[in-house]
Amino acid sequence: MKTLAERAGSIRPSPTLAIDAKAKAMKASGIDVVGFGVGEPDFDTPEHIKEAGIKAIRDGHTKYMAVPGIDPLKDAIIAKLKRDNGLDYARNEIIVSCGAKHSLYNVAQALYGPGDEVLIPAPYWVSYPDQVMLNGATPVIVPTREEDRFAISAEQLERYITPRTKALILNSPSNPTGLAYDRGVFEAVAALAVKHDFYVVSDEIYEKLVYDGFQHISIASLGPEIKARTFVINGVSKSHAMTGWRMGYTAGPANVIKAMSDIQSQSTSNVCSITQMASIAALNGPEDFLKGMLAEFDKRRRYMVERLNKMPGVSCLMPVGAFYAFPNVSALYGKMYGKSAGGRKINSSADMAAYLLEDANVALVHGEAFGDDRFIRLSYATSMENIEKGLNRIEQALARLA
Ligand code: PMP
Ligand code: GLU
Repeated sequence: MKTLAERAGSIRPSPTLAIDAKAKAMKASGIDVVGFGVGEPDFDTPEHIKEAGIKAIRDGHTKYMAVPGIDPLKDAIIAKLKRDNGLDYARNEIIVSCGAKHSLYNVAQALYGPGDEVLIPAPYWVSYPDQVMLNGATPVIVPTREEDRFAISAEQLERYITPRTKALILNSPSNPTGLAYDRGVFEAVAALAVKHDFYVVSDEIYEKLVYDGFQHISIASLGPEIKARTFVINGVSKSHAMTGWRMGYTAGPANVIKAMSDIQSQSTSNVCSITQMASIAALNGPEDFLKGMLAEFDKRRRYMVERLNKMPGVSCLMPVGAFYAFPNVSALYGKMYGKSAGGRKINSSADMAAYLLEDANVALVHGEAFGDDRFIRLSYATSMENIEKGLNRIEQALARLA
């Protein structure tokens, strides 16, 4: 029997989606699982966007469309980038893909190859290293420190730059840490990208989900030289509660956008026609829905982080963006559970996540999947009732450790 291609053999399934699938399967079998695993807004897509999708079907927008996105959608994206980020782009600098994950994948396909190194600050979102490896390039993980609120410093980053450095992947606000960069760090990083001539892939999918008056800035807005090297990645999944519709986009240098479009023409073709029509309504429409969603996330964020910090052995920074708490639980490693059944030791974030899923029926993600084994990630994009219930269970389960 012939074997899989080497790249298929080495790829791991997305751990966030795998945990979500496991939690859903447990629920389907009648177990009352509290899901802090996958990160997606628990809010419904706003009515006017759903209506635009329904109208698209009725109006017959059910055929192939332009591969990189139809002009009215590109124009809505261009207007958004101008309005929110002060960025000017032309239509040939924009491509619409099947979710921000696909946007990142297309960038990876167009840019990374064998011999290339791609800098990824850790903790990172789960798909970044695998997308680099899928294209035969090498992810170079740049560690950050909890004491620095997980921010990279330009001095430290520079130590990892080599002539092979092709790109740096930035994610602000960050999944999983919820922390975000200020202008000072971005300016220093942008200067490095220009000096050493590498690309910056700026994943800004959580741009709209920020708290305490934090002002998001796009690194591309810091000047023409950095803009010429930056790919701004964004979408509607998080900002408009549209995870299932699958729409993400990339803004960047026209030659690479053209290559991404050619690649997309040989894989998915255009993003679903109905989704494109609904996304125009999302991007051009009112944002009052966002205010309500943010106020709710903010309340949950404070509650979750406060409660986590009260648990012995757990410490958690207050995130300023996204919808994740990322507590350090490493003080509990070495403790035992299930003494009566022979006893098992918790040695890692995966052990902790497995214990909390099996013993407390709470699904969450082990920090190792994000490149730091000392942490676990909890999504607070779920109801306050669930959050209270889940945290009660975690508190009790951790108290049972000996
Ligand atoms: N980047 C980050 C940091 C994310 O958390 C996600 C959501 N999983 C994505 C990209 C992909 O989002 P989308 O649903 O648009 O593919
Ligand atoms: N943003 C989500 C998460 O990190 C989605 C899951 C995924 O796309 O992998 O949980």
